[in-house]
Amino acid sequence: MVLRHPPDRRRLSAAVLLALLVVAVVVGLGTVAIGKSQVRAGQAAAAPPPAAPAPTPSKYVVLTFDDGPDPRYTPQILDILDRYDAKATFFVIGAEAKRHPTLTRTLTQRGHSVQNHTWSHADLTKLSWTAFQRQVKDTDAQIRAAGGKPPGCLRPPYGTRTPLLDRRAAALGKRLVLWDVDSRDWTRPGPAAIEQRVAANARDGSVILFHDGGGNRAQTIAALPGVLKMLKDSGFGFRTAACSTPAQ
Ligand SMILES: [Zn+2]
Repeated sequence: MVLRHPPDRRRLSAAVLLALLVVAVVVGLGTVAIGKSQVRAGQAAAAPPPAAPAPTPSKYVVLTFDDGPDPRYTPQILDILDRYDAKATFFVIGAEAKRHPTLTRTLTQRGHSVQNHTWSHADLTKLSWTAFQRQVKDTDAQIRAAGGKPPGCLRPPYGTRTPLLDRRAAALGKRLVLWDVDSRDWTRPGPAAIEQRVAANARDGSVILFHDGGGNRAQTIAALPGVLKMLKDSGFGFRTAACSTPAQ
């Protein structure tokens, strides 16, 4: 069937179509405008409120990790430290730094201090001067090869110290850094005991001993989030050991 409209009805249809088109365009533009304002409102709602400046800690501890780096534990420790915005000092074994150069480099790249804990965890009180120098200097070289600054600090394995050891360390430009809080994580007493020991003994300026290598350090990793939260809640900040680079 062919529809035939009189001329006036055709004009009317055209006018109705035009009116519908205008309405459609206006409604369409309005929808776009509303959509845009909704997006802006959504963005404004999602924006974080202005952050209050974090209070500056009035007291500090120095977190130290010995006997690594160890690919099983050190990366996990780095991630936990990041969560608490904490920088630590790693006393590395030269032979382990040589075995894991990328991990050693990562320590420096992530803002931590890398210092000397001898080449093979030797008891420095039992060495000739020649052997002493090799233990320290070879480790220095390995740390520097992995992008670290020349280490200004030496931690003697087992915490041994004698007047002779002190003189030899000084002759090599090393400051000896021991600790006043031993977490005793190496005895694996359980994460709660590790945290409790640190909580009971940490003071302003304390140097706290942990281990990221040299054995099973799963308990250190389990304890560390609680330790860091406890220290932060107690008002402590975290500093690296003062190991200014000696003149080479
Ligand atoms: Zn050690």
